[in-house]
Amino acid sequence: MRERARFAPSPTGPLHIGGVRTALFSYLMAKKNNGEFILRIEDTDSKRTIDGAEQHIIDSLNWLGLKFDEGPIKQSERTHIYKERIKELIKSGLAYYAFDTASELEEARNEAETSFKYNFLSRKNMSNSLTLSEDEVKSRLEREAYVVRMIIPENETVNVVDQVRGKLSFKSEELEDKIIMKSDGMPTYHFANVVDDYEMNITSVIRGEEWLSSLPLHILLYKHFGWEPPKFYHLPLILKSTGSGKLSKRDAEEQGHPVYAVNWQGSTGFKEAGFTSEGLINYLGLLGWNNSSNKEKYSINELIDSFNDTEINKSGARFDYKKAVWINHLHLKEFSAEKILTLANRTSDSLIQKYSLEKSEEIVDLIKERLNTTLDIDKELSVFLSQPKGYDSVAIEKIDRGLIYDVLNFCKLNKALISDPHSLKNQLLSFGSEQGISFGNIMKSLRLCLVGNLSGPDLFKIIEILGPEETLNRIESLTNKI
Ligand code: GLU
Repeated sequence: MRERARFAPSPTGPLHIGGVRTALFSYLMAKKNNGEFILRIEDTDSKRTIDGAEQHIIDSLNWLGLKFDEGPIKQSERTHIYKERIKELIKSGLAYYAFDTASELEEARNEAETSFKYNFLSRKNMSNSLTLSEDEVKSRLEREAYVVRMIIPENETVNVVDQVRGKLSFKSEELEDKIIMKSDGMPTYHFANVVDDYEMNITSVIRGEEWLSSLPLHILLYKHFGWEPPKFYHLPLILKSTGSGKLSKRDAEEQGHPVYAVNWQGSTGFKEAGFTSEGLINYLGLLGWNNSSNKEKYSINELIDSFNDTEINKSGARFDYKKAVWINHLHLKEFSAEKILTLANRTSDSLIQKYSLEKSEEIVDLIKERLNTTLDIDKELSVFLSQPKGYDSVAIEKIDRGLIYDVLNFCKLNKALISDPHSLKNQLLSFGSEQGISFGNIMKSLRLCLVGNLSGPDLFKIIEILGPEETLNRIESLTNKI
């Protein structure tokens, strides 16, 4: 059978990275097996639907390159299918109409000794099509609001298999006759979800761990219809970076990192925080995967090749923003300068005006090793665009003012060398040994002068790119200062 994996979010809010990880694992499952990846929007609960959430889900998947082969398929446009299937279950006696009003249910809850369950025992005392006469059912269906409930069998052990956790069993007494159609005529999540997975020939259901407790219910629905269930994989939670519990928007805000792939109503996404889609995909691919190799950097194709459904972890995966940034860096430093300029929106700005496109790309190639996110580019490029705004005073004192002065003065006296960084380096070496100045301190003095602090890319490359005039200007500025 052809592999068909789906991502089935409810548009009840923006797509959190937990959801993105679920989408990614479904995508990997489909692509690993040359199958299809389907996007299904589970929007049968109109009260909980949030404006813009569906678009946010689509925008996130598009940015990440998780292309769906089918979809988005919206459940709200398929209600006729669920209605037919509901009728089928009622006809075979596995579902029934229930007319209980809110106050009747309230009363039943109050009367119950332990917590009330609408089940094989209590359903006998409630207003439903199992207790009322056929005529009464008919007339109440015309006049009153009703729901449809599925029958949960008495005293049955429901055995289920989760591919991540293995065999699990549930007692049917712990379950309730779940509502499968609400009074507005819409199916509930459980019902539409099972019917669609069957109708769409889904072979693998990959979803968050929070749905594991619904699995017995789903399995019973498959049984009621006489359908073969797909394989189920419940992914471990993504845990907050410290302490216990699931990573929430609040935790992410407190830790100062995004929780959405792309911007949502003023809340910065990973994209806007300077992540590449490759970096985020790679990081999320490692979350919950028991990767036995030490390899860290994966392209999407490598993730597909390495994906193995038996290597999904049972335990929660701790979110580590520093690691995500590191993985992003590994991708960014291998991108072409052209791609980086495009990602950083700098294809037509001051850098290119000052240096030409070719030279700008050379500069980006020089600094890209130093980028963690595309937002770092401004800081890294500033060296090439203007004189340092200030100088690291601690470094000045540490190196020694007099020494810095001597080094800069030597450069000024040997101006001609500046246009030939290779000879400049040699001459500085001999100057250092004559004067008893370490080469390290010579380099630090010059770096301080050109960059303003002790960081930045290769110094002689900086000199080459700035050119003799600008280099001398900067030497002049710092000499005047100290
Ligand atoms: N609509 C559910 C959700 O929002 C889908 C659960 C599933 O994949 O079965 O997570």
